[in-house]
Amino acid sequence: MFPMKVCVVGSGGREHALAHVLARTTEVVITPGNPGIPGSVETPPEQIDADLYVIGPEAPLVDGLADRLRAAGKLVFGPGADGAQLEGSKAWMKELLVEAGVPTAAHGTFTELEPALAFLDTMTAPYVVKTDGLAAGKGVVVTDSIDEARESIRDYLSGEAFGDAGRTLVIEEGMTGPELSILAICDGTRAVALAPAQDFKRIGDGDTGPNTGGMGACSPVPGVDDDLVATIISDFVEPTLAALRARGIDYRGVLYAGLMLTPTGPRMLEYNVRFGDPECQVVVPRLTSDLAQLLAEASAGHIEHEPTFTNDAMVTITLAAEGYPTSPRTGDAISGLDAAASLPNVTVFCAGVGANQAGELVTAGGRVLSVSARGATVAEARARAYEAAELVSWPGMQRRRDIAFAAAGVADQAGG
Ligand code: AMP
Repeated sequence: MFPMKVCVVGSGGREHALAHVLARTTEVVITPGNPGIPGSVETPPEQIDADLYVIGPEAPLVDGLADRLRAAGKLVFGPGADGAQLEGSKAWMKELLVEAGVPTAAHGTFTELEPALAFLDTMTAPYVVKTDGLAAGKGVVVTDSIDEARESIRDYLSGEAFGDAGRTLVIEEGMTGPELSILAICDGTRAVALAPAQDFKRIGDGDTGPNTGGMGACSPVPGVDDDLVATIISDFVEPTLAALRARGIDYRGVLYAGLMLTPTGPRMLEYNVRFGDPECQVVVPRLTSDLAQLLAEASAGHIEHEPTFTNDAMVTITLAAEGYPTSPRTGDAISGLDAAASLPNVTVFCAGVGANQAGELVTAGGRVLSVSARGATVAEARARAYEAAELVSWPGMQRRRDIAFAAAGVADQAGG
């Protein structure tokens, strides 16, 4: 199975990376894309004729775009609205995990105050309270103070904190341990893992400041071996696919598993239903096998060729606009992009990028660019990525200086 033309849906750094790697072997069009991504068109996906559609972000998946394209007879990589609930509702996801026998934190789901507070009293610190619905990554409280947990429960259920997203909430057993993310490509029955990646969520060096969509990533991740990845696929992801199938859901797309490696073994924290951004920018370019073929086979319900990866490492640095993550300023002219992109082993993926009337590229979102570099080691990739990032600027540009610092084992945290 080989698609001649692929349509990528989305406009961020993740979609640029997918389009870039797909273009190694196939014709690619991206909608809506952005002025920094070659092949961008404004035509809606339903009006584009392609052999395969790859849907990047969660919003169109939750909205049923994959269902509409499939109903029109198209081959689509991405779950339908039914499968996308894994990301859209924590209560639904937890119920499914229990049904699947997948290890996860003990939990209760509540819509009423009294039973929720009574359940909280049966738990021990740390206390964990989550909104059921999407809350832009902010709906989770982890605290040692039972009073703070009680307060959150009141704020969530009243609708004050997160509107309807919090009127149903999940109270969870608190767990401890390092976190691990695994991206799996699923064909409805079988899942194959992509190379592991680590991302950096906080805006500031040393993991300080507010959460963001991701300020950088690296792949591979030291200490994550093939056996652990195989266990996550066989004991977590594939049972999840079976439980989905039992509910009549044929899940073809990415399952992005977020786990905690607790003292008593791995436990599932959450699923996302799409490639992580910026993890995608360091994982997918490391493929030595064909991405178009892999996604087409998964979409057709039968992965025949396992993905393979180079031994090279990749690191990506997010360049963000002033004011991100609260209120990013847009319209600043981006300078140095071409100089950065022309360095050997460097690719600059464009995310929040627009064009001014003169046709120059300007900032148009919070996370603007993903400057990615390849090297024989994480340290080499990291040094190249920082060398390239150093060439790019606009007023108020933000970036972290410690991305992949520990993974690279380097002595100088300044990062160029
Ligand atoms: P989630 O959106 O469910 O992944 O939660 C966001 C973050 O909150 C996770 O990445 C963890 O750092 C933390 N977290 C979530 N659930 C738990 C838990 N049960 N115990 C401890 N920390 C948690």
